[in-house]
Amino acid sequence: MKPRPDRRGIPFVVAAASGTGKTTVCRHAIGRNRERGGSPIEFSVSHTTRPRRSGEVDGVDYHFVSLEEFQRLVATDAFLESALYNENHYGTSWRSIEEPLADGIDVLLEIEIQGASQVRARRGDARFLFLLPPSMAALAERLRARGTDAPEQIARRLQWANRELEAAAGFDYAVVNDDFDRCVEQVLEIIEGERSGGVEGLRRRFAPGPALEALTAAEARAR
Ligand code: 5GP
Repeated sequence: MKPRPDRRGIPFVVAAASGTGKTTVCRHAIGRNRERGGSPIEFSVSHTTRPRRSGEVDGVDYHFVSLEEFQRLVATDAFLESALYNENHYGTSWRSIEEPLADGIDVLLEIEIQGASQVRARRGDARFLFLLPPSMAALAERLRARGTDAPEQIARRLQWANRELEAAAGFDYAVVNDDFDRCVEQVLEIIEGERSGGVEGLRRRFAPGPALEALTAAEARAR
């Protein structure tokens, strides 16, 4: 059996409008933390009914399951949270986070906003980070450049992105993914701060309200 550490891990929920570069930022944050010998942090591996994209590995990127299997898991209360997003189901199993947390490992949940609000209702120990795009135009451009979605799917994602941004107001932190390196460093700074408990200044610096106002003001200027 693994030795029990003297601390429980912290669940960090990271949400963003799709196309903000959330997955890449999270991957780099985890990688840099490891290189620097920081306290361990892992992704929770979600379940999804979405078809596997090329390059994705079952059990690593997601547990790819059928709709029947997903529904069975929902019925047996296997999920901390689950959501329907873009016609596919996604869910974080209790199992994917409980074990690492008990072992003192922080867990990063990279999920969308409906799931984030379920986590808020169920886990008082979770911290909530929202990644903001530098502008809506930049977001549209990134979705197109990614080349994984058809134009009508991109239009749907952008529509949804506006609703996602509204949810950011209820998060603990907002970080703008303008300069990629700085964004990764800021995410790590927040994680470190939460680990050590010195968060007052951080919560002021990364308060979602002013960041959202800046984004709205930039949109109004661009119009
Ligand atoms: P994608 O299909 O592009 O991998 O993910 C689509 C959206 O689903 C992203 O916003 C991603 O963060 C979110 N997502 C991935 N896993 C989960 C999960 O377990 N629960 C919820 N609620 N959303 C998830």
